Amino acid sequence: MDEFIPLSVPNIKGNEQKYVLEALSQEWVSTAGSYINRLEEEIASYLKVESAVACQSGTAGLHLALQVSGVDTDKEVIVPTLTFIAAVNPVKYLGATPIFMDCNETLTIDPYKLEQFCKEECELSNGKLINKRTKKHISAIVVVHVFGNTADMEKIMKIAKNYHLIVIEDATEALGSYYTEGVYKGKFLGTIGDFGVYSFNGNKIITTGGGGMIVAKDAQKLKEIKYLSTQAKDDELNYIHNQVGYNYRMTNLQAAVGVGQLEQLENFIAVKEKNYMLYKDLLKEIEGVRLLEFASNIRPNYWFYSLQLDKKLSISIDMLIQNMRDFGIQTRPIWGLIHQQRPYASCQNFKIEKAEEYHQSIINLPCSSNLTTIQVQKVVEALKHIQVGR
Ligand SMILES: *Cc1c(COP(=O)(O)O)cnc(C)c1O
Repeated sequence: MDEFIPLSVPNIKGNEQKYVLEALSQEWVSTAGSYINRLEEEIASYLKVESAVACQSGTAGLHLALQVSGVDTDKEVIVPTLTFIAAVNPVKYLGATPIFMDCNETLTIDPYKLEQFCKEECELSNGKLINKRTKKHISAIVVVHVFGNTADMEKIMKIAKNYHLIVIEDATEALGSYYTEGVYKGKFLGTIGDFGVYSFNGNKIITTGGGGMIVAKDAQKLKEIKYLSTQAKDDELNYIHNQVGYNYRMTNLQAAVGVGQLEQLENFIAVKEKNYMLYKDLLKEIEGVRLLEFASNIRPNYWFYSLQLDKKLSISIDMLIQNMRDFGIQTRPIWGLIHQQRPYASCQNFKIEKAEEYHQSIINLPCSSNLTTIQVQKVVEALKHIQVGR
């Protein structure tokens, strides 16, 4: 096989070039310009929320959301262990302490364990959730919608209400996923908790090269986020700053790419859905492997496809990835668990079992929005050749 099939690459075939050239010709290249406002407005309208604030990255967005939530050195924040580390690092930027939770079969935070942790390991005191072990205030939770699938927001929002937790939805992988049933029917992931953060990094469902977007329930908090993202300037003319801000604003050039990408988002999702269904169908012929499902009560964005291997298979994840590479196909294991990474190894974690299991049994298959039917067939053929099902 000659052609290389990458895991996930950008798809820039719409109006991106036109818009970027327009921004360039107008010489609006930096952190002001009409494309930034346009992207904010169009994302807000797509998500059916009042407003959205653009920033440099999903990581920056999470940092700002946590900061305006009041997360500081005295606080602890509940986070998943099975995620990309950028969901957790901003907790540390603010000097707070993460507490790691396990996932369930959706790869997102297990709400039962979350509740058990709050009930058994903590106590409510003056409307604050206090960690019995450290006596510290657990003030927030970062919920990650892994691979575009949803965490169980119905359960999580109830638990958060009962235990006074601010909910920050890391929807960096989930732009476009929304509930089709239940109390959140019609609601997009990221618009249910107190804050929602999206990413436009190169591998996400739409990209601006690098970039992010923040939404919030409280309009005042969102204003504060914008203020902090633009150097906390209180007087434009005299340069008066009453807080320590950041240079986190998106540039007009990035936003121009984003506007072009957003026009194609629903098409990208349609292609990803089609390829997901095709994989699922073809993979039926291989014993001992399956594609992980997305929740049945959402319209997912089908961002990443997860192939799960039965424990009894003779091939290891590492071998499989190596063999697929020999066929010119890029796959990858899911992330190294965060509670085992050096900066977090001494942090508290609660009954982590499933995350370890999934970490050892899942690889991601090629899923770009320009992946062709023939390429999907090639990936499945390669899996057959490797005799993964034996
Ligand atoms: C991509 C990603 C981020 C960070 O987004 P950037 O825009 O790359 O900073 C955070 N959390 C998760 C789960 C991600 O996948």
